[in-house]
Amino acid sequence: MQDLSSPNLQIDPDAANNRTVSSASGQESGSVRQKEKQLRLFAHIFNSVHEGIIVTDADKNMLFINPAFSTITGYSANDLIGKNLNLLHLGLMNDAFNHDDTWCSINENGYWQGEVVGRRKNDESYAECLSISTMKNDRGEINYYIGVFSDISERKAAEERMAYVVLHDFLTNLPNGLLLQDRLAQAISHAGREKHKVAVMCLDLDHFKAINDMLGHLVGDKLLQEVAKRISSVSRASDTVSRRGGDEFVIMLPDLETVDDATDIAVKLIDAISGLCIIDGNEIKITTSIGISIFPEDGCDGDSLIKYADAAMYHAKKNGRNNYQFFTNEMNQLALERMSIERKLCHAIEQQGFCLHYQPQVNLRSGRIIGVEALLRWNNPEIGMVPPEYFIPIAEETGLIISIGEWVLREACRQNSEWRMLGLPKITVAVNLSAVQFRQNNFGEMIKEILREYELDPSGLELEITESAVMHNAEASIALLLELKAMGLKLAVDDFGTGYSSLSYLKRFPIDKLKIDQSFVRDITVDSDDAVIVSTIINMARTLKLKVIAEGVETAEQLSFLKHQECDEIQGYYFSKPMPPEKINSLLASGYEVDGQWSYQSK
Ligand code: C2E
Ligand code: MG
Ligand code: MG
Repeated sequence: MQDLSSPNLQIDPDAANNRTVSSASGQESGSVRQKEKQLRLFAHIFNSVHEGIIVTDADKNMLFINPAFSTITGYSANDLIGKNLNLLHLGLMNDAFNHDDTWCSINENGYWQGEVVGRRKNDESYAECLSISTMKNDRGEINYYIGVFSDISERKAAEERMAYVVLHDFLTNLPNGLLLQDRLAQAISHAGREKHKVAVMCLDLDHFKAINDMLGHLVGDKLLQEVAKRISSVSRASDTVSRRGGDEFVIMLPDLETVDDATDIAVKLIDAISGLCIIDGNEIKITTSIGISIFPEDGCDGDSLIKYADAAMYHAKKNGRNNYQFFTNEMNQLALERMSIERKLCHAIEQQGFCLHYQPQVNLRSGRIIGVEALLRWNNPEIGMVPPEYFIPIAEETGLIISIGEWVLREACRQNSEWRMLGLPKITVAVNLSAVQFRQNNFGEMIKEILREYELDPSGLELEITESAVMHNAEASIALLLELKAMGLKLAVDDFGTGYSSLSYLKRFPIDKLKIDQSFVRDITVDSDDAVIVSTIINMARTLKLKVIAEGVETAEQLSFLKHQECDEIQGYYFSKPMPPEKINSLLASGYEVDGQWSYQSK
């Protein structure tokens, strides 16, 4: 038996067939030299290639191996020569390599190629790309099997890593949307055959953004990882828990017998997530809202089921959060309505379908109107008056708020400039900004350009920003607020008390005014907690040298309480509802002063 892994050995298939070469004539000796040269070349190739090569006889007893074979497998020629190929325990990637079919195919076709799992001498398995060909004699019988293979374990591992990255979320290592879609499609087709149900749950954390803004993205990321663990801990092994991005997770529950199974898991999820989390020393309690859709009742494809679970989740949010909702057809109706509103909003921008109403703001000491808040109104010819609280969130989600917001700013500044040109008492016009606008590039430049165009003194414009808008990326917000402040604008924090302001930031924000949210004002005379909150905000504002205005003042009792607490300004139906600009003209022209008489109502 020859060991071709020793450098001077030559392979000679003719010799193996006992056909010796005569050296009788000079011509013959020339051709012998030629053949020897050729054989040396073949041997060199055999010895130096990086692919492992193995030659066996017809019974698969190993005859030759090359050095690369030993390098890859760790077996020397001494270990193997004369022994049977089965010793190497090759296995197909998916099946046994020694499968009869594979060998039948090799014997029939004379060639086979595929990926197999090899086993090194140290018992480690590795992936190899193997081709096997046969060498037959004159009678067509197989004399040899020749196997050539390369070690592809590194490439395989890289491919697997790649496939993992493509199908998983980097933060939580959970499957991503792509993998979910795939598994969902499989689950649906399986459940269809077995007459089972599949549930899809869209799960969104409540107020996650506020936590992220307040405690920073690192804590936010760790919280998402913790939530991912908690969701996985209450899910079954067959469920797919995936992260869709942000604080949204989608869970697929295959093979359910009844809808009640989904309810049980939703309850468990809500419980598991709401348990206290301690992250970097911060005690965090977070809740979740879950929307559920069911195959086959709600939809028969993955996209629809996710869309419907999403619509149901939206309802869970509206329902006070920290609850779960099953999808209903009415929700679909509402989703369709939203889409139609979206289309109509686009037209309203093109066809100037908006107008502004203005609600007076009154100084409690002087009794004078010192400003108005511009409030957007949309009267759609088909659906009538649409409340801003309904269409503004849609405009924010779709990005339409950028152009709508710019229109509001222009119109409010134009109007205030007109009032000033008419010689009416100078007032400030307050414009509500949504968080999306606040993050808009060149926002400061745009404001400057508008003020220049309408020749309005910057002090005639106040911007109302909500706490969450400023707290999102607080450092960038401070820079923008400083820029706006330096221009001479006034800045107010709207709906104060409803967000998660950090007092240390509040001190650093260059703001002029806090607007106490109407939810606190509403009950100041009946709920002692609200009374305490309002008086605390007023005192705090005084300490921070900020002005304070109470929104939503509706009754004489509320007014009296606020006067007593020395609140600076008020705004509310008690004095006036928002009204069209021409009514503000006459109100300002009348030199109206609030003095004991608080019953102005717009008609
Ligand atoms: P907001 O900025 O807090 O505005 C005050 C809201 O309270 C207004 O509702 C106003 O009509 C209402 N209001 C005023 N006084 C009273 C009162 O005494 N009692 C009661 N119950 N309500 C009172 P509106 O006009 O429906 O606006 C709702 C919200 O829509 C606004 O809340 C604001 O967040 C948003 N919004 C309005 N216009 C715009 C806008 O041009 N841009 C942006 N981004 N948001 C706007
Ligand atoms: Mg406002
Ligand atoms: Mg408000």
